[in-house]
Amino acid sequence: MTVEPKPSIKDVGSERLAAWLREQGQPAFRAKQIREWLYPKWCTDFTEMTNLPATLRAELAVAFEAFTVSADETVRGTDETEKFLLALPDGNRIESVLIRAPGRETVCISTQVGCPVRCVFCASGRGGLVRDLTAGEIVDQVIFACRALGHRVNNIVVMGIGEPLLNLGNLIPALDAICAADGLGVGARHVTVSTSGIVPGIRRLAEVARPWNLALSLHSPTDAGRSKVIPPRHRYPLVDVLAACDEYARLSGRMVTLEYTMIAGRNDSRDDLARLAQIARRLRAKVNLIPYNRTGEGICAPPAEGVAAFLDELCAGGVQATVRREKGAEIGAACGQLRARACPADGGAVG
Ligand code: SF4
Repeated sequence: MTVEPKPSIKDVGSERLAAWLREQGQPAFRAKQIREWLYPKWCTDFTEMTNLPATLRAELAVAFEAFTVSADETVRGTDETEKFLLALPDGNRIESVLIRAPGRETVCISTQVGCPVRCVFCASGRGGLVRDLTAGEIVDQVIFACRALGHRVNNIVVMGIGEPLLNLGNLIPALDAICAADGLGVGARHVTVSTSGIVPGIRRLAEVARPWNLALSLHSPTDAGRSKVIPPRHRYPLVDVLAACDEYARLSGRMVTLEYTMIAGRNDSRDDLARLAQIARRLRAKVNLIPYNRTGEGICAPPAEGVAAFLDELCAGGVQATVRREKGAEIGAACGQLRARACPADGGAVG
């Protein structure tokens, strides 16, 4: 007989929790007490909720999960990067990465188990989508990182396993809880949501008008180039992607960032450079050039001098651009690599 995992208490709406507390004969103020333990105090176990009656703590533990992630493996890099392979209550695994820099501690979180987009160079997409993460599972990755750090992270990037904009129904409430003053209290302007270019998702995110940053993984500045990286099912015409990004920048008031993974011979020609500069100027977007850092795909980054020349020309063309090294390259911090190694059936070979 298989035992159904219990729901995360963070996924139980306030009305349902209020009704559940009433059924247990508990006063309504218990809900506020529970929330205070779960969010600002990063509590992971109902037994720690010492201002609740012991009977209530026991009943909560029977009905709900207080915390949904546990470390299966932690890999530390030499560059202050820690990558966590996290187990979920149903046995699935995800990854998150903690990146420490002076005054800026960032956690990169996942939004799905696997990914339906299946970009050709990405280990996360190899086995397709297993399931969406719940809001509670998304929040718990941030709490896990805060606990590992001993204090609150100040930067969140939603760039781990999964396409965030295909799980907005859970991501939006999760980020709201992460940013709420009575939640985890992370500044909303320090949240960046990444997408491969899911047009309906960008438009929906624009409509909810939170001050989160949007990062578009462009991969190539042409439809032909993007078609070599993103399979058709979740690929949108570039003209629509850019129009949606325009709308996002207008409604959110935030700058869009273009993430550009540089692959030798694929997207580093003079033509690519000119088109990328044109797109960046149109969106008034900053460009992050990310030299491809993985092996085993028969593709590689351009030589360092080629990356530097590409950067110089972008900047000379009036584009704000930087080269960003993928932190934790030596520990396989690129999206999905650790999970792929741990769960070859889901993630395939390591990218
Ligand atoms: S790069 Fe992002 S969108 Fe593409 S398969 Fe990997 S996780 Fe999914």
